[in-house]
Amino acid sequence: MKFIDVSVPLNSALAVYPGNTPFQVEALKRIADGGSSNVSALHLSAHTGTHVDAPRHFFDNADGVDALPLELLIGRARVLEVVTSKAIGPDDLKGVEAEDVRVLLKTRNSRLWGSPTFHEDYVGLTAEGAHYLVNHGVKVVGIDYLSIEEFRAPGAPAHRILLGAGTIIIEGLNLRDVEPGRYELYCLPLRVVGADGAPARVVLRQS
Ligand SMILES: [Zn+2]
Repeated sequence: MKFIDVSVPLNSALAVYPGNTPFQVEALKRIADGGSSNVSALHLSAHTGTHVDAPRHFFDNADGVDALPLELLIGRARVLEVVTSKAIGPDDLKGVEAEDVRVLLKTRNSRLWGSPTFHEDYVGLTAEGAHYLVNHGVKVVGIDYLSIEEFRAPGAPAHRILLGAGTIIIEGLNLRDVEPGRYELYCLPLRVVGADGAPARVVLRQS
């Protein structure tokens, strides 16, 4: 049994979406400075690094991240490699099969990790692609950069279509070392009450 950690490391070199809080560890107490222990404060956004988007991200009064069902966040998942260099549309998603309730999209984005700069030319999902996934019964969609949306797409259609249909979005995955295929997905976002999103540790298990 092998586990693959597809979460990105949280450190100050992590790229953040424009306008989001840069990740930072602040020393509150340090033994080296005479403290009784080491205690840190973490500075981050709900959408830092590998994270889950809840419906409340785009819809007031909709479910926060703490209300998302673990039954969806854990279970069989398909890693689908998409070779497009632009945006993901229905033609790129033909490989999605009826049993694929959870689909993780592996793109060239995974090669952007390690760069502290946010890359605006990442691959996102089109509105048509989002409709295609919803219509094929996909309930969890993951992508390997900090947003599933094409950069600054007006009206954020991919988010609205997916979240509006009750499909959970996982963003910020690193799928660089993951072969396409089926895995067991474990995605556990922090239980932040009412939050629009939360960082998550995401692990794939080869079965
Ligand atoms: Zn998002």
